[in-house]
Order: sequence, then structure tokens, then C-alpha cells
Amino acid sequence: MPNWRLWALCAGRSRIDQSVATYLEGMGVPLEIPHSMFVLRGPITVVVDTSFKSPSVIRKHYPQEVWRVASEDPRAMLAAIGVEPADVDVVVCTHLHYDHCGGNALFSNARILAQRREIDYARCPTSTLMEREYFSAGAGFPSQCDLDDLTPVDGDLQVASGLRLVTLPGHTPGSQGLIVDTAQGPIALAGDLVMVRENFTEGIPVGLHTDLDAWYSSYRKLRAITDQVIPSHDMRVFTSDDPTVELTA
Ligand SMILES: [Zn+2]
Repeated sequence: MPNWRLWALCAGRSRIDQSVATYLEGMGVPLEIPHSMFVLRGPITVVVDTSFKSPSVIRKHYPQEVWRVASEDPRAMLAAIGVEPADVDVVVCTHLHYDHCGGNALFSNARILAQRREIDYARCPTSTLMEREYFSAGAGFPSQCDLDDLTPVDGDLQVASGLRLVTLPGHTPGSQGLIVDTAQGPIALAGDLVMVRENFTEGIPVGLHTDLDAWYSSYRKLRAITDQVIPSHDMRVFTSDDPTVELTA
């Protein structure tokens, strides 16, 4: 069984109300968050989530303070850890919100995995809020990724030895996470099921969700698998000024 190495990359940031991350808690409290990508190296190279495409496009269509400094450019960060985008074998989209799939086109040779249920929902979200989160073409937003390029997955899936996709609906209908076997034990990348540490450690749901009951079911499913989860939008993952950090060092 391979022990995978895992990096987190801070591919841009935004400022949100804390209650977007912690449901009904921290209302009125501003919170700076990273838009994280993750890189896994083992027998193959895998990227989990690809952040947003361009801050200017997002700002134009979404009332959100969002930015990306030069050192947080995905290409620059991948180069810093010795990864060529063309050498990435698999991309996992935990879900298809604009800030998790906007960089998919960078990985021209990769198989890009998303749950079929998520792809179906992304084509036709059923609320105004979710039309914005998906940058829904049907609602007139500029598309952030090509849904036809995605490889649909139905349910849990072994991607490679020591890498397992698990469905974790709640934040969105087809959210999924990746369980990674590392020298420190299994580590979960759970998408926006766990945006900040407290979602997992205190069981506080994320403020943005399509199904609160499903969030709780997924939370219990994940807790039964591992007690190590890397949040998707928590600045505390990045412990120095370096926008890349190896989590298995
Ligand atoms: Zn999301």
C-alpha cells in the first residue's frame, strides 16, 4: 500500500461572513478564507479541486471580495513543488462550485472525476443562490468549467491503491471526498463538507448547503472513516507565508 504525499496550495482568497462557513454562528464576523487546491503524489499524481478561474470574472458576477496574488497562481505553486500540469493524471472535483473547478482546463491530460449527481445538478441548479455558486450557464453566468470534459462517477470509488472517493452530500447534492492513505494514517479531503476546522471538530454544519440533514449524515460517515480532515477554506492550514505547504512532511 503506497503512502501518499499531500500538499495544500492557497490558490487565491476571499473575505466572507463567518456564518457562510459555520451555520448560524459568527454572523457579522468577517473571515478571510483560502481557496485551496490539493496535490497528491504517489504512483500517480492527483489534484483535488482547482480553485476559481479569475478573480476579475468572479468579482464582476458575484458580490464577493476575492483576490489572488502572483505567488498564489496555480501554475507558479505547482512549479514550486515540482509538478507540471500536463503530468497530472487525475483531477478530483469534490463538487462543481465555481471555486472548485475553475482551473480544470489547466490539466489537459487528466481524467477529471465528479459525481454524476453533481454534474446533473450543476447543469440545472434549483435555487438562485446555487445558480450563482455554480456560475450556471442557464442563468447567464460565464461557464467556469466544461461539464462535458468530466468523467462521471456513481458512488464510492477506489481511484488508486490508497485513494478512495466517498460520497458526502449536503453542501451540494453530489459532493464527494477523497480518503488518502498516508504515513500518518488516512487523511480526508472532504470538499466543503468541512470548510473550516470547527465543522469537523465541533460538528457545526457549513452555512452554505442544499440539504442540512444530508450534511449531518455525511459528517457521521466521515467521522467513522477518519479523525484527520483537511478543511477546504481554512487559513490555519497555511502556517507560514508560503502559499504551499506539505501536510505529510
Ligand atoms: Zn462549495
